[in-house]
Amino acid sequence: MVTQDHKGVMPNLRDTVRQDEASRLASELTQQALLQHGERIRSMVESAHDAVITIDEHGIIESWNGRAEVIFGWRSDEALGQPLSRLIIPEAFRQAHDEGMARFLQTGAGRVLNRTMEVTALTKAGKEVPVELSIWPFRAGSRYMFGSFIRDVSARHQTETRLRMQAEQAIRFRDSLLDLSRLPKTDFNMALDGILRRDADTLQVSRVSFWRFQPAQKSIVCERVYRADAGDFTDGEGVVLYERDYPDYFAAMASARPVVADDALHHPDTRAFAQEYLLPNGVVSMLDTGIWFQGRVAGVLCHEQIGTAHAWSLEEVDYAVAVAGKISLALESSLRAQAEQETLRALTREKELSEVRARFVSIASHEFRTPLSAIKSSVELLKHYGDRLDPAEKAEMFDTIERYVKRMTEMLDQVLQLGKADAGRMEFTPRPLDLEALLRQVIEEVVPRNAPRHRVELRSEGDLRGLHLDERLLRNITTNLLSNAVKYSPDGGVVTVFAGRDGSGVILRIADQGIGIPVADQERLFESFYRARNVGSISGSGLGLAIVKHAVDLHGGSIGVESGSGRGTAFTVVLPLTATE
Ligand code: ADP
Repeated sequence: MVTQDHKGVMPNLRDTVRQDEASRLASELTQQALLQHGERIRSMVESAHDAVITIDEHGIIESWNGRAEVIFGWRSDEALGQPLSRLIIPEAFRQAHDEGMARFLQTGAGRVLNRTMEVTALTKAGKEVPVELSIWPFRAGSRYMFGSFIRDVSARHQTETRLRMQAEQAIRFRDSLLDLSRLPKTDFNMALDGILRRDADTLQVSRVSFWRFQPAQKSIVCERVYRADAGDFTDGEGVVLYERDYPDYFAAMASARPVVADDALHHPDTRAFAQEYLLPNGVVSMLDTGIWFQGRVAGVLCHEQIGTAHAWSLEEVDYAVAVAGKISLALESSLRAQAEQETLRALTREKELSEVRARFVSIASHEFRTPLSAIKSSVELLKHYGDRLDPAEKAEMFDTIERYVKRMTEMLDQVLQLGKADAGRMEFTPRPLDLEALLRQVIEEVVPRNAPRHRVELRSEGDLRGLHLDERLLRNITTNLLSNAVKYSPDGGVVTVFAGRDGSGVILRIADQGIGIPVADQERLFESFYRARNVGSISGSGLGLAIVKHAVDLHGGSIGVESGSGRGTAFTVVLPLTATE
């Protein structure tokens, strides 16, 4: 540096020399500073966390920093001189990019300039990555250049996606649990199917099954399996697992600790299943949780993933535990509903019994009082005026007594028979029998040939001999049905009796043209002491059909009625062939 005057040199020349020197020095210093500055900027750009790329107005890359190398995989020497659009812009957006640049050069306006936007960029490996991009144009001498910052936002995207998926999953779990809360649970099997299906769909697992602990808590039995691939259920196929074979698994269940086995083959609680269950079925991950009921573990909810292993998240485990809770609720509700049903049944039985008692009292008082008073007055007449009555009058009175005694005896017989049937002591001894012959006898007994008002027509089809039926019960059936047909046809008419065979068994049909049975009474006809509302003064105990029903049931058959008030009545009895041959 020059700081002194040099004597002997002309002052103005000296000054000029000094000035030149100074300005040279100054310029050197400026250049140095500029170089240093440029170097600093270059190293800043080079070490920046964003890719910094500049391109000329033809889109040719002029600078490409280290981060650009990392993000896009192209080394700087590969990238420089290449058109940017071919290198990092996915094919689909290339044309738009080229057009945008051309538009800017023509008009000075560009939609994508001077702002930050998210776009997809292409790497050397052909992978598309989300990037945040800002581009700005600047003048370099007479031409335009474009600078851009590019930031790889894949990690942020991944986090966002994960958070979004977690939020979606939380909503899915919550909706599913709410729906399962609403699900009716009084019918356990129906509720269970609903729960298993929803559970499998929500957790997207291959199989979900329900296992029930056996009373001694030493084994579990598979009751129901939902298979996601088939979208359907199978029952447990009787698979039983014993504590002695899988002590770790049972201990986990008993301790209310869910078994979370991402790798079921090696998990300490599930590896014992490997040979017999996991490997043959291709099960790789399991998530099992106990189902608790009244303070004890009552079952297991089992999730199985087939094929690709699954790492169960905390949320999934929580969800599975909550679903197990819904099954506990279903167990409880169904048990309560059952208890309520039983109480209701007991109450209904009680009510029916008291109704039967009431009907019995009313029938007995009517059916006994009338004959008893008729017998009493006949006896009194005979006692006091017997010697004054002529033989025909006397005979008539004895007839009356005999008829009424017979009627009461018959009724008592029916009561006894029904008592026997109710106590399950009605015997069933089928023996080969000729049904047609039996019908003829019964018709003869019930409708003596000289009965003027009724005509009985017997029609039969096929060979009715050698049928294995209980003769006593069959007499009961036919006598009751036939006497009713006659009794409830006070104006007479034709009674048809049909007997035949078809594929399903022996058919017996007895039809009349009498008063008929109101539809409203038909359902209860077979209850004891029940009589239809239109019987009027026709006497009866309401026991005959109850006995008939028992006799038909003992044969494993069925009885039906077709009738209507004033339309006649037809009873049809079908006795299965299996019981007859
Ligand atoms: P009952 O001794 O009263 O005849 P049943 O048990 O034999 O008792 O019949 C029950 C009721 O069914 C009868 O009281 C009657 O109301 C009705 N019933 C049965 N058979 C006939 C029929 N053939 N026609 C009309 N009503 C009938």
